[in-house]
Amino acid sequence: MKENIIFRYKVIKLIRDYLGKNGFLGIETPILTKSTPEGARDFLVPSRLHHGEFYALPQAPQQLKQLLMVAGFEKYFQIARCFRDEDLRGDRQPEFTQLDLEMSFVSQKDILSITEKLMIEIAKLAKKKLTFKPFKVLTYKEAMKKYKTDKPDLRKNKNNPNEICFVWIVDWPLFEWNKEEKRWDSMHHIFTAPQEKDIKLLEKDPSKVHSWQHDLVCNGHEIAGGSIRNHNSDIQRKIFKLVGLKEKEIEEKFGHLLKAFEYGAPSHGGIALGIDRLIMILRNESSIREVIAFPKTGDGRDLMMEAPSKIEKKQLQELGIKFQK
Ligand code: ASP
Repeated sequence: MKENIIFRYKVIKLIRDYLGKNGFLGIETPILTKSTPEGARDFLVPSRLHHGEFYALPQAPQQLKQLLMVAGFEKYFQIARCFRDEDLRGDRQPEFTQLDLEMSFVSQKDILSITEKLMIEIAKLAKKKLTFKPFKVLTYKEAMKKYKTDKPDLRKNKNNPNEICFVWIVDWPLFEWNKEEKRWDSMHHIFTAPQEKDIKLLEKDPSKVHSWQHDLVCNGHEIAGGSIRNHNSDIQRKIFKLVGLKEKEIEEKFGHLLKAFEYGAPSHGGIALGIDRLIMILRNESSIREVIAFPKTGDGRDLMMEAPSKIEKKQLQELGIKFQK
């Protein structure tokens, strides 16, 4: 495990150096923030100064990085800690680390290109042989038809621990139908832009709209996902409505972003890459717990520190919190 942690440091150092050399600026965004819907449950932090109000820990710095683009930082990155209160699996932890990046005035090709070059450098560091160079690009439709999965593992020799296979998946549907809730859900997230050729279908037939989403698959694991974003508030509003948000909710949750777009936002897009999963694959491990210092157990506990744990009554009182029976 010590070797894994040392290797992890080296990969992160390579990422920082590589992106710094390519004009990216590392910017830290807050951990105590507001709910940012990425499709999971938020971890909440009660406020002592404002009883009854809560911060949310970021599921990703998504809105913040988009706001940084509006503010004129054209190339941003962050090694960002993200928090999602989900049921845990082998390659999930309640907190995990992403390489988050965003760029202004770019096309999808530009995002794929910089990410791919970075991955090739990392593969070199790990002494891995790439199955495809340049990486194979499949449309979502091709992947589903040919491999029956959106995470195909196309290694030629799966028993060779020194081989690594990256595949891009593009041309995703913008929405999927949520049968239970009877509404459209975003395939990626609600900030993803529809492809221009399909915009006229947004109202007529949302199922046919393709998006500018891109996922990067490595040996059958989804390791990165991103998209070109909406930077036009009218289209963003339309999408909020299609996923069932009411006018009031839109203002409460996203008023700041829509307002920022009205100042004339640059076109922008980006990607986030799961560092833990990438390191797990590069080190031939089967769980991200093997590449994280002080990971949590399968049911979200830190057994050594005994977290989560009960807190003193006085602390609860200060926070204005009383447990329901
Ligand atoms: N914020 C997204 C995520 O965490 C990634 C992105 O769209 O850049 O999945």
